[in-house]
This record gives sequence, C-alpha cells and structure tokens, in this order.
Amino acid sequence: MAKELFAIFGNPVSHSKSPLMHNLSFQSLDYDACYTRYLLEEGEKLKETFFKLGLKGINITVPHKEHAYNACDVLDPFAKKVGAVNTIVEKEGKLYGYNTDAPGFLKAISEFKGSKTILFLGAGGTAQSTSSILRDAGYEVTILNRSEGRLERYIKEGFQTYTFEDFIPQSYDLVINMTSAGLEDDSLPAPEEILEHVIPQAKACVDVIYGKETPFLRLAKSYDKQTKDGSDMLLYQGIIAFEYFTDHRFTFDEIKYHMQKTFTL
Ligand code: NDP
Repeated sequence: MAKELFAIFGNPVSHSKSPLMHNLSFQSLDYDACYTRYLLEEGEKLKETFFKLGLKGINITVPHKEHAYNACDVLDPFAKKVGAVNTIVEKEGKLYGYNTDAPGFLKAISEFKGSKTILFLGAGGTAQSTSSILRDAGYEVTILNRSEGRLERYIKEGFQTYTFEDFIPQSYDLVINMTSAGLEDDSLPAPEEILEHVIPQAKACVDVIYGKETPFLRLAKSYDKQTKDGSDMLLYQGIIAFEYFTDHRFTFDEIKYHMQKTFTL
C-alpha cells in the first residue's frame, strides 16, 4: 500500500500543532503516512485541492469548517446536526466528514465531576458544536455573546441566551471562554463587571485557547479558581481524528500515549 498523505487546511495554518501530533503518532505506531499543512485561501476550492494533492484525509481549521461541511459526500450524523466539519477522510473517491472538536471538548471537561451548569462566553462555530454535545450529555448550557446576531440559532434550539446588555447573572459551575478574545490580543471575552460576578461563583474556568495564558484565565486565577486551557481539547480532537484517519486500527489510549508527547516537546 502506498504511503497515505494527510494535511491540515486553514488560513492561517503555520501555527498549527497538528502536523507534529499526527506525524509523531504515525511514526510511533509504525503507520506508513505523512501529515503536512496547507494554506488554503479559497474555501470553495477545498474539494478540488484535496484531490489535486492526492490526500487520504484532512483536518480543517479556521475559517473553512463550513466549506468542509459543504464539500463532503457523506456526513457523520453529529457533524450534520451541528453544520461543522473539522475532519475529512477519503474512501473510494468519496469524502466522509466528521466533527471531532466537540467530542474532544466533552472529554476535556470530564475531569470536572459533578458540574452541571455551564456559561459559554461566545457563540461562534466552536460554541455551536460543543453546546450541542454538552447538552446531549446532560449539561445545562447558557450562552452569553457580545452581539445578538449569532444567538438566533441557539434561541431556536432552546438554549438560554444573553447579550452583555441583557445578561441576568446566575451561578454556573463552569465558565468557558469560547471566543478568540485573548488569542492575539489582551482582551477579555466579556466585560469585567460580568466576569467578576460569575467567576467567583464557579467551580472552574476553562478556555479553548491554548499555548498561552489568556487574560480570562489570568483573571480566574486571581480568584484562586481551578483553570484549564485548550490543550486537552486539541489533543483529544486530534486523537479522535487519528482514529478516523487510520480506520480505528488503534485504541484511543494507544494513540494518546504517543500523541500527548508532542505537548512536552
Ligand atoms: P468564531 O469566529 O466562529 O466565533 C468567534 C466568537 O467569539 C463570536 O461569538 C464572537 O462574538 C466572539 N468574539 C470574538 N472576539 C471577541 C472579543 N474581543 N470579545 C468578545 N467576544 C468576542 O470562532 P471559533 O468558534 O471558530 O473559535 C473560537 C476559539 O476557539 C478560537 O480562539 C479558536 O482558536 C478556539 N479553538 C480551539 C480548539 C482547540 O482544539 N483547543 C479547536 C477549535 C477552536 P460576535 O458574535 O459578537 O462577533
């Protein structure tokens, strides 16, 4: 069998840890494959580019998850429900689409045992898929977003939603930054008055951003709260994608054993 080729498509894509995570795991598990990064500027060309490069599978990052969804011939039921695909595998000329961000996130927060109520700061693509899987898993998710536009979909799906202007603070077990605030700037995901109300009552604060301490997690630590960044989410979404890439030849724990080493390199 010829060496299988995989890639991550995004714009920007140079910062991505995925090539390291997957290549180290392929090598350690003796699987004949190679994973690279590809700067995709036009999302509409995703399918054409996939076949031109002769790929077996891809991960898709910002801003192409909706294009990825549209490019698939067959959608996993969960990816179909949430409208976002971050993993594609080619089988007999057809593209199969999956969402591994959401199950990865669900697993990442499983350490906060006994938590039930969650406040999401942000309502973008990542919040969309994760809110759905968390609700299915029995959590009560409230969505707080800077502006109204993105809340429409959540209102239709029956979530409690607020903007900063109409927020009625309650107590939440987990407060989670689902925005990109703090990724490339020093901003908080919500006004400080709101955060100063919800953080002290929370059991823990979580950020989907990884690789740096965000102003949000810094604020949470100033209240002596337990915190967690987005590294485990990244690791777990990667492991689940690897399971699809290799057609479930390896167990989750086998892959984890190797892939997690890239976080200490
Ligand atoms: P989107 O662009 O789809 O959504 C962005 C959301 O953030 C919107 O709700 C937007 O509000 C809000 N927002 C952006 N900037 C600010 C700000 N300064 N203050 C308040 N709200 C703000 O992004 P994604 O959902 O795709 O990604 C969100 C984050 O998740 C990113 O940081 C990304 O890196 C991270 N991520 C991490 C992963 C991991 O493995 N750890 C996996 C996937 C994503 P509005 O509607 O008002 O514009």
